[in-house]
Amino acid sequence: MASPRVLVVAGTHGNEVNAPWLIEQWAVHEELIDACGCVVQTVMGNPEARAVGRRYLDRDLNRSFRPDLLEQSATHPERCDREMLRALELLGEFGPEGQTPCDLVVDLHSTTAAMGNCLVVYGRRPADLALAALVQSSLGLQVYLHEADAAQQGFLVERWPCGLVIEVGPVPQGVRRHDIVQQTRLALQAVFEAIADVVSGAASYPHQLVLHRHLKSVDLPRQASGKVAALIHPQLQDRDWIPLLCGDPLFVSAQGTTIAYEGPDGAIPVFINEAAYAEKAIALSLTSREEWPLSQDWTEALALLLNRT
Ligand SMILES: [Zn+2]
Repeated sequence: MASPRVLVVAGTHGNEVNAPWLIEQWAVHEELIDACGCVVQTVMGNPEARAVGRRYLDRDLNRSFRPDLLEQSATHPERCDREMLRALELLGEFGPEGQTPCDLVVDLHSTTAAMGNCLVVYGRRPADLALAALVQSSLGLQVYLHEADAAQQGFLVERWPCGLVIEVGPVPQGVRRHDIVQQTRLALQAVFEAIADVVSGAASYPHQLVLHRHLKSVDLPRQASGKVAALIHPQLQDRDWIPLLCGDPLFVSAQGTTIAYEGPDGAIPVFINEAAYAEKAIALSLTSREEWPLSQDWTEALALLLNRT
């Protein structure tokens, strides 16, 4: 039986510096992380952006993996943004049809929001859900299911047969912290252990996956000119994962006017005041907490992917 081929990407955003540090240290000190029998490729997602300490150069690399954009860019490479070329390069090297094909990708990120650590899954691919359930059961991490969001598409992990994003935080952009590096290391270690358990047949799945399903993103209030007209309300700041009730304060203007949440009780805010999302006009996202019973389709899909011969 062949070993699972895992791609680990760090620094997809050039100003997220903890995972790149970890991956570079791991290259020198191999005892830092046990790959548990996986054949691992590691790569810096956006080295040019990292070199200048920016999230990206021309466009967000982690929104550049939309099939239509990739196809256009492959046809007209002379006209495309640097991140589109990088996306094509990464797929050419490590994509399912690439020179060194990988079955599964782990994309390491950090957040400035007070969310702690979580897994992000895009869409409802069975193998992703199975892997998320295993890692959730070993580390107790929250799982954010991002789907049905026309404004945010083209995530890196979607172009591999199975993929997870690990978000670690809170940490400012460009700042290295030992605790953040450790949390990234532990989460990556848990992914390798989960994969090894699936391969050996020892995987012990939980009965359910608890996830936070993306409902919508909410922008700050704005003036007609587009200028920001209010801030995140202090009673909301740092209260990621805590359910909102109708009437709870969301924003506050300079004069102290509160703008309240109007919607059904129980929506759960995440990525509150995330630094990287200001440019995307996202002040927070709302999610619905759901418990999905584990499905045999998920576990079979992951086993099939990892036990290819
Ligand atoms: Zn990121």
